[in-house]
Amino acid sequence: MKNKRLLEIFLELAHIDSISGNEKGVSLYIQNFLTNLGLAPYTDNSEQKTGSNTGNVICKINGGGDFLLSSHMDTARSTAGLKPQFLEDRITSDGTTVLGVDNRAGIAVILCATEYIIKNKIDSQPYTIVFPVCEETTLFGSRYMEIDREIKMGFVFDSYMRTGKFIASSYGAAGYKVIIKGKASHSGIAPEAGINAISIAVKALSNIKIGRIDENTNANVGLLKGGTAVNVVPDYVEIEGEVRSVYKEKVLEIIEETKEQFVKAAEEFGGNVEFVWVWDFMPFKLKEDSPVFQKVKDVITKSGLTPEEKLSAGGSDANSYNGNGIEAVNLGIGAQNPHSNDEFILYEDFENAFKIAIELIKK
Ligand SMILES: [Zn+2]
Repeated sequence: MKNKRLLEIFLELAHIDSISGNEKGVSLYIQNFLTNLGLAPYTDNSEQKTGSNTGNVICKINGGGDFLLSSHMDTARSTAGLKPQFLEDRITSDGTTVLGVDNRAGIAVILCATEYIIKNKIDSQPYTIVFPVCEETTLFGSRYMEIDREIKMGFVFDSYMRTGKFIASSYGAAGYKVIIKGKASHSGIAPEAGINAISIAVKALSNIKIGRIDENTNANVGLLKGGTAVNVVPDYVEIEGEVRSVYKEKVLEIIEETKEQFVKAAEEFGGNVEFVWVWDFMPFKLKEDSPVFQKVKDVITKSGLTPEEKLSAGGSDANSYNGNGIEAVNLGIGAQNPHSNDEFILYEDFENAFKIAIELIKK
């Protein structure tokens, strides 16, 4: 790999063990790195909401501007004992741990590009760099990030896809939990005195949509528990499910329909229903004429690559930013086979991701 400095920063970062909720080591490394460049990084106060041992790291360059570059600090699995291997075209681990490329490669790209611009006195845009916690578990770092209202666009360096590809639309997921309350009674002596919560559940479940609902929407019921004994009319059932769609409205519609079926069934049998749901991550679909879409195509082209728009089935920090009113894309950096012991990155993708970062921030 030609860019020795990029590799050096990556290796330093990858050796810091920092799984979700324990990002302090990486947080301190980043803050120290940026302070040495004469910048003023700081952490926000998101710990109470994220449960991490550090806040998100934020640093404004030239006043902060209206766009951010983002890369999460946690890894899904530990990098302790990492022994990186340098093959002809790629970096891997020795197969006993993850490489940590998701997402230390993204952090290295952002830090190295910022250092390069400053040390070579290249005119840069005003921009903000952010390093969220807890991406792999809850996306709470990005969701609860305390960030300036001036920020309108986001560029997340966190996709396993090859460089040139970018995620401009993504499924969202909402999880729900239903608690059905009936009335217990001896099923042999006084069955008519009971209200069977399982009957309510079965009735509702037979009427709700499950599976692939349409091209862009899926729903699932994944957990069901209830009842106490064969001779007791069950008074309690708990059900958990989820709805996924590219369209926010579609998720809301299915959630509403699902809730209605449970309420209807409970009324029919004389029981009660509690229905709660929450966004695990919000869907987004960026318009082709939006500034972020235009900008990402432009910088990818200037980096010598062919831009290719992609849809993602999973969530990333880009979902949080879009949910918070910052139009954001997730860029392919080629961090392949994420979370497995076969994680790797091609030197080519690593250096291309660096080029994309430079094109984003230089004037
Ligand atoms: Zn990641």
